[in-house]
Amino acid sequence: MPEVPLYDIVIVGAGPVGLLLSVSLSRWGYKVRHIDNRPVPTATGRADGIQPRSIEILKNMGLKRKIMAHNPARVFEVAFWDPAPGGKIVRTGTWASCPDFLDARYPFTALLHQGLIERVLIEDIENNGTHVQRPWTITRFETNNVNPEYPVEVDLKNLDSNVTETVRAKYLYSGEGARSFVRETLGVQIRHKDPISHVWGVMDGVVRTNFPDIKMKCTIHSDHGSIMVIPRENNMVRLYIQIASSTDPDFSPRKTATVEEVQAAAKRIFQPYYCTWDRVEWYSVYPIGQGIADKYTLDHRVFMGGDVCHTHSPKAGQGMNTAFHDAINFAWKMHLVESGFANRDILSTYEVERKFIAETLLNFDNKYAALFSQRQPTATEVDSAHNSHNNDEHDTKNDFVEMFKANCEFTSGFGVAYNPNIFNHSSEHSFQHPLIIKDSPKLRPGRIMPPSNVTRVVDANVVHLENEIPFNGAFRLFIYAGASQSPKRGQHKALSDLASGLTSPGSFYSRYESKERQRDNHHDSDNPHSRFFSIVLTLVAKRSEIEISDLPAMFQDYSGRIYADDRKDIRVLDAKCSAHAKVGLTGSEGAVVVVRPDGHVGVSVRLVEGQGTVEALEGYFAGFLNGMYDKQGKSTSRRTGLGGGHEHVRSQL
Ligand SMILES: Cc1cc2nc3c(=O)[nH]c(=O)nc-3n(C[C@H](O)[C@H](O)[C@H](O)COP(=O)(O)OP(=O)(O)OC[C@H]3O[C@@H](n4cnc5c(N)ncnc54)[C@H](O)[C@@H]3O)c2cc1C
Repeated sequence: MPEVPLYDIVIVGAGPVGLLLSVSLSRWGYKVRHIDNRPVPTATGRADGIQPRSIEILKNMGLKRKIMAHNPARVFEVAFWDPAPGGKIVRTGTWASCPDFLDARYPFTALLHQGLIERVLIEDIENNGTHVQRPWTITRFETNNVNPEYPVEVDLKNLDSNVTETVRAKYLYSGEGARSFVRETLGVQIRHKDPISHVWGVMDGVVRTNFPDIKMKCTIHSDHGSIMVIPRENNMVRLYIQIASSTDPDFSPRKTATVEEVQAAAKRIFQPYYCTWDRVEWYSVYPIGQGIADKYTLDHRVFMGGDVCHTHSPKAGQGMNTAFHDAINFAWKMHLVESGFANRDILSTYEVERKFIAETLLNFDNKYAALFSQRQPTATEVDSAHNSHNNDEHDTKNDFVEMFKANCEFTSGFGVAYNPNIFNHSSEHSFQHPLIIKDSPKLRPGRIMPPSNVTRVVDANVVHLENEIPFNGAFRLFIYAGASQSPKRGQHKALSDLASGLTSPGSFYSRYESKERQRDNHHDSDNPHSRFFSIVLTLVAKRSEIEISDLPAMFQDYSGRIYADDRKDIRVLDAKCSAHAKVGLTGSEGAVVVVRPDGHVGVSVRLVEGQGTVEALEGYFAGFLNGMYDKQGKSTSRRTGLGGGHEHVRSQL
């Protein structure tokens, strides 16, 4: 009998969720079988908006530059147009698409079609040894014990040649989009949030018009109907038009409209402005129900994500962005399990965290869609929404204002805030310690850490602190030394105690040290000691005052990750050390902020003299470490097999 090929994971579907998962796992050295049933990648159309938080994620993965090289349109403001007498339209207001109060590094939405984004991801996957095979599909799968290390048996079929193949894998991940064979086979139901479904027409092309906001994102309500205008790359524009809704008396989900009908409808809506089409690049009609899958996995071996698990209206531009978050959330958790760092139970947090976000998004999308279809915001409401962020305590409790804020958080991606669990510390966590920082509005576990600028000591470059560690599957320990810790030799007792606690043989940090002790780590500033931890040290001092050789020996291996907190920040102008102030650290206090591999805060611990800080960190990590090494550093766990072992994990960024 021929040998059954073994993979760490089979990924079905090469849309945004499958591709970003494949990028991550291929970079980290996993053996990935990736298939898609379409003969060629997306050529044009489909989703198009990359939201501010997703831009940060792509930046963190070193992919942003390649995507921005396609010159996407960048949307900073949204314009609202409402009916005016005589069947015309008038602008009633504009607002920032990502308002100042969100403190986003990239406060805009980048708009370009899904195919261009997918192309960048596919190239990266191929550079890392995985090939997306087309047109292949999945015909059967089951989890069985024939090979306990590779418990998922998957039958694949080439749709050109009808060749079939059986493979075994540790995991199967379905990123098949809204119609999923895997989801249906598992019998997982989609629950429809809202019984109302919609049919949308979406058209990309180049228009000739005197409409003044054609380069802005606009919502236009008129006596002749409503459309959404979205500027795009290459002088293109996208128009969304609702063709039918199940509230219509003659509704059919199969209702459709021709290009000419949609163009004629747009022409009527744009009055008194003219609008003619030079070229149509893509046109599609697609029905949308707001649905969410009951489960994202049944056995923690077969997982699903992206549109397989949640669908919603395109109004908030979330399809691809939510898919990205699903992908990276699963990637690092699978990685920590397969590399022997964390116990298998952590995989349950994938569904818990991502389903909660999908639920929140659907609730929001539901209300948002209703608000825009039922009534238009007046200019006064828009102004009130716009001004409210400047003075939070004087907020008017106005439905529209509240919705506007929720909208901005969700559409920007900063609304992704995970609830307390083993990774996101809270007062309900089984481990408590007096040094754990609680109730800090800036460092809420489950949320993203605020961005800040610092000066890198080794080369005096001003850098984005939050992005200095790439998405490499490691936890990031952001050490804010605080004003009481001078960089001068002998004047940083708390830092020295932290370094000696972390490097002591029994510590969580030492237990997960790379086993390749002879490894040359001279050029590795991200993971010189351990694949599971990256350390970033920010000192309150001018760059020129910091001599890395004066710091505890451990930090000298992280020389490329030592920073001076010496830059002004407009948001905390009075602060002496703005990076510290932005995470809520004032006075002389320091802290260690543990950031999960996906950039969300896990826990923050005060930096003090003695061993308290390390004790608190130890307790946090003990919640999910798999005990692979005992306190003496001896391995206690089984080997994890092909690929994915920590020896295999490559840091390639
Ligand atoms: C026609 C259309 C138009 C859309 N327009 C918009 C829009 O205007 N704005 C917006 O925000 N969103 C839009 N979306 C939704 C958006 O594209 C998705 O939210 C986003 O792509 C989700 O990514 P995903 O990876 O989960 O799924 P998808 O991008 O759908 O990718 C799934 C992939 O899996 C493949 N696949 C499916 N089944 C199998 C199988 N059994 N075996 C192998 N491969 C399989 C598919 O061919 C596809 O390549 C549109 C979707 C469609 C289908």
